[in-house]
Formats: sequence, structure tokens, C-alpha cells
Amino acid sequence: MSILPESDRPNPYSAYGAHGSVLVLNSGSSSLKYQLVNPVGGEAIASGIVERIGESSSPVKHTFAGNTTQREEQVADHAAALELALGLFGELGPDLAHAGVHAVGHRVVHGGELFSDPVLVDDDVLAKIRDLSPLAPLHNPANATGIEVARRLMGDVPHVAVFDTAFFQSLPAHAHTYALDREVARAHGVRRYGFHGTSHQYVSGKAARVLGRRVQDLNTIVLHLGNGASASAIEGGTPVETSMGLTPLEGLVMGTRTGDIDPAVVFHLVRNAGMSVDDVDDLFNKRSGIKGLSGENDFRELHAMIARGDEDAQLALDVYIHRLKKYVGSYAAVLGRVDVIAFTAGVGENDDVVRALVCEGMTGLGIAIDPERNAGRVSEPRIVSPAWAQTLVMVVPTMEELAIARQCIEVVDGLDPTA
Ligand code: AMP
Repeated sequence: MSILPESDRPNPYSAYGAHGSVLVLNSGSSSLKYQLVNPVGGEAIASGIVERIGESSSPVKHTFAGNTTQREEQVADHAAALELALGLFGELGPDLAHAGVHAVGHRVVHGGELFSDPVLVDDDVLAKIRDLSPLAPLHNPANATGIEVARRLMGDVPHVAVFDTAFFQSLPAHAHTYALDREVARAHGVRRYGFHGTSHQYVSGKAARVLGRRVQDLNTIVLHLGNGASASAIEGGTPVETSMGLTPLEGLVMGTRTGDIDPAVVFHLVRNAGMSVDDVDDLFNKRSGIKGLSGENDFRELHAMIARGDEDAQLALDVYIHRLKKYVGSYAAVLGRVDVIAFTAGVGENDDVVRALVCEGMTGLGIAIDPERNAGRVSEPRIVSPAWAQTLVMVVPTMEELAIARQCIEVVDGLDPTA
């Protein structure tokens, strides 16, 4: 198979100019992450995070030109956080007035059934993002507040909302429909939406470009394994399955989330353990997964515990891998043929043990790992399967901010990324 270096192909974003940038904002319930991205070269010009907004002391981090500055500040709310971040650009660089900020891109978690593409933000879009809050009560209100504040402070540039759910809006009905009473489901928007869409779309497209193939010609399974984790089956560039559902709780075992679990566990705990629905929500989302099983959610620590003979840590890893294998197998059945399996995100890019274990014993499905190619952390896209294997197993680092930045300029400039 020929692999064209990407540098040999025209970069559709180069028309946009070498000096422009996009400010990408990710407003969480108590944090603000930002990254100034060059959408042509793809590099982060500067980045930072303000955490624990609203608490007595907020850790603040700003990185520019290889220098990271950290300090504690008092940050009352998201408006103060963004003002602080803009101030840090002035103080520590780069000066935003000279950085050619072309647009501000906002990561928004839930677009419901309303948004299947990134959109230019106006008052109506902002109101709709707020209206979708019942589907993502922790995230959408914070996303909307971040947009509101940013529009006030940076009113002279266009703002674009990029939705985590958008890519999966084209899932076929048989994949996004729960076998639930249809009236109840319709009345309350209960269906599978999928999340991490920006990453799944970027990684599947990037894998194809690295291989010198058209995404339309490939069937790909993307395994986004970070603290949150999700899988997708993508047929010719269109998603046909994904593991997250109405919320990001469904699917794979995650750092602190259960993933798939019998819903009757909720009834059982509410009826018999004296837990409220909010208690179970907190348990399933924050105190379960790898952390619930082993006490730790970071895979580096998990491996260290296993090396020390910790049986709970070993079981946590075994449960995690088993769930992944079930998803790979079922997605292979859905796709009929798997050309590429792409690992990405914190665990997928860095943990060669997890990659090897997921693919172990799958030669009957044409899936295998080459230990030498797989060894170590991966910062550039790489094939880690042996030459004889039918399926190309790859590691493709995700770049969600870059993907958001590029979607922004596509919306603002009407640029066709496939041109
Ligand atoms: P993300 O949510 O994509 O930022 O991924 C964060 C997770 O990646 C952490 O909680 C770790 O479990 C995992 N991770 C990061 N670095 C490594 C590493 N070098 N080896 C194994 N796991 C890692």
C-alpha cells in the first residue's frame, strides 16, 4: 500500500493565510480551557486552563512558546475566567491583537437533534444550546455561558459552535433508537446521540489521509480511549455505530464511568441501598469504571499497581479490555469488513499494553499487533499491525482543538476542506 506523505498533498487551509489563528474555547462546569490554533500548520500557538472557577482559589496555567506559567487566582465566574485568560495573552503572549484571530470556536457537548453541523452563533443558536440543557445538565449551561461571555468580550470576530454529538447525527435509526416505548422516547428526546464526534471524525479522516486512501473507501473502527472513552464504527466516512448514548455514560468502561450496565442496577440501588437518583448518577459517572474497581483512574498508576501484584487493579484492566474486545467484535459484525482500527486519546496513544491486549487473540478476525511497531508512546500517526494482517491497526493522535478550528473556518469562510 502506498503511503503519501501528507506534505505532498495540497493543504486546503493554506488559502486561509499563514498568520491567521482560531481561539478554541472549552467551557466546562467549573473550568475554562483555551487554545489558540494555527489552522494551517495545525500547531497550538498558545494554550491554557483556568480550573475550579467559583472556588476560593483557582489554578491557572498558560503556555506560550515553550514557557508554561502557573499561578493561583481568585476567579468568581466564567466571565472573570475569560477576562483573565485574555489578560494572560496580553501579559505572557501572544498579543491577540496581532495574532489575527479569525474566529472563536466553542466546543459544545450536546447538539441534540437540532445540530448536525457546526454553526455560526447568533442569539437563536445560543438559546437553543440552553434549551438542550436537560440532555446535558452539567455541560450545556456552562458551554452557553462561555459563548455568551466570549461574544461580549470578543464581539468583533465570528463565533462558531462545534457540537460533540454532531458527527453521529447521521447514525442510522436502527443504531440510535432504544427499544423503549416510542411515545415516551419521542416526548423526552430519549435516543442515542454519541459523543466525542469531533475526535472520531478527525481520527478516521486522518487515518485515511495518512494511508493515502479516500475515507469513502475505508471501514474504520475508532477507539477513543481517554479518561472518557468511546468507540465508533465508520463505514466509508459515515458513522454507523457508536458506544455512547443519550449521555456519555453508555458503552466502554472509562476512567470513572461504568459504561454499559444493566439499568435495573439503578432500581436495585434506589430501592435497597437508600440511594437517591442523584447518588446513583454520581456513583456511575464519578466513582465507577477503572477508579471504582481499583481506586485509581490513571492507567500509569493502574499498571504500577498491577506490577505490585494488586488483584483489584488486574481485574479492572481485565474488565476494561474485555469490554473493548466485545465492541471491536460487534463492530466488525456491523461493518462486515474492517480496514482500519485506530487507537487515539490519552490511553490509546500512550498505552502499548492496552493496545496489545485489545488485539490479542483476534488473528481469526484478521486483527493483530506487531510488538515492535506497537512499542511505546505514539505522537505521530503510525501503523502498529504486522504487514500480513488484513486489518491495519493504527495509532492516530487526536487533535480536537485543531479539528474544531478547521470546522470554524469552514463555517466562517465557506471553505471546502475536500477541495
Ligand atoms: P485524555 O482524557 O485523552 O486526556 O486521557 C487521559 C488519560 O490518559 C489519563 O487518565 C491516563 O489514564 C491516560 N494516560 C496518559 N498518559 C499515559 C501514559 N503515558 N501511559 C498510559 N496512560 C496514559
